[in-house]
Amino acid sequence: MRFIMNPLSFSFNDMERETSFRAIVELLPQITWTIDDNGQADYFNRRWFDYTGLDFEQTKGYGWQQVVHPDDLDNALMACQDIRASGIASDIELRYERADGVYRWHLTRLQPVNDGEGNISYWIGTSTDIEELKQLQQQKDDFISIASHELKTPLTSLSGSLQMLQKAIHINPSSEKVPAYANRASRSLSKLVRLLEDMVNITRVRYDQEKINKKWTNLTDLIGECCEQERLAGTHTIMTSGNKDLAVYADPQRIDQVIVNLVNNAIKYSPKSNRIEINVSHHEGMAKVSVTDYGIGIRSEKIPHLFERYYRADPSMIEFSGFGLGLYICAEIIKRHGGEIGVDSQVGEGSTFWFTLPING
Ligand code: ADP
Repeated sequence: MRFIMNPLSFSFNDMERETSFRAIVELLPQITWTIDDNGQADYFNRRWFDYTGLDFEQTKGYGWQQVVHPDDLDNALMACQDIRASGIASDIELRYERADGVYRWHLTRLQPVNDGEGNISYWIGTSTDIEELKQLQQQKDDFISIASHELKTPLTSLSGSLQMLQKAIHINPSSEKVPAYANRASRSLSKLVRLLEDMVNITRVRYDQEKINKKWTNLTDLIGECCEQERLAGTHTIMTSGNKDLAVYADPQRIDQVIVNLVNNAIKYSPKSNRIEINVSHHEGMAKVSVTDYGIGIRSEKIPHLFERYYRADPSMIEFSGFGLGLYICAEIIKRHGGEIGVDSQVGEGSTFWFTLPING
């Protein structure tokens, strides 16, 4: 078994140096190994055995191939062949199976080691776990495709309504179709504005730019202001009950954002019911606001993920537009206020989204 740290130029015969290089490589958080020119492995560092849960006997030679994801193996072997043929260090992305059966993406770099006379005598490989990076890339790609799709729907309907409006005004400005088309256009515009607000807010929340400006805020008054627009839209009756005098020391603008989000969701996800109930209560120094709808409800296995970024419980339901960002933004705001957010829900019966806030801030 050989061991060299400077693969481009170094060949050694000093046992002490070999021992200390080996000790360093054993401590590396990256998987490191060596293979001969035929692709047979003859050394792995400790990280490899910790990660795969396998031993040297099981993975030496070509045994390492058993932990490569079956969908990546052919590509990996071809890439290895190309790299070895070119004799130039290069990278491959592939998934390795962890001891618990989970595959994680790794960036694997193969570096040739010269024998001092310009011939490649073997290869050093390192593998860095890039699973999180891959997931972020995937989220970004998903987001771009969701965003373009989601923005297109209300935009197309806005443009359609405006065209109809223009035509109706041209034929007869006092026709009853005029306010109907204007209303439809206004609803599409509100949808667009809401989607764009989500996009702006997510950037602010992510980069911690949201300043929290706390002041004493009466919750029932705040709820009244938040729901004015929804009440005007007239699709749902919004009833507020509970402690009308309860005030909290919180940022009214941010709490407004949370309530508007929860109420908009309650409306959006209850197309066949027209009742929304909001309740304000307090318990042991905490204020609690709950928003109840009698809509489609949420399956229990989906509930733990609802407050994650970009999560949508049922993305196939195209009648409900959205980015899966609203609840994540709400959760961030409530977390920053030292409160909690949650939901109780039954499929087909409806949902109660609630949040708590420390009364004294
Ligand atoms: P979206 O923009 O998709 O509405 P949210 O973050 O606001 O994003 O909500 C995340 C997901 O939670 C939604 O896609 C939906 O599946 C589910 N959801 C949120 N509110 C409700 C509700 N009141 N009733 C049923 N499902 C809901």
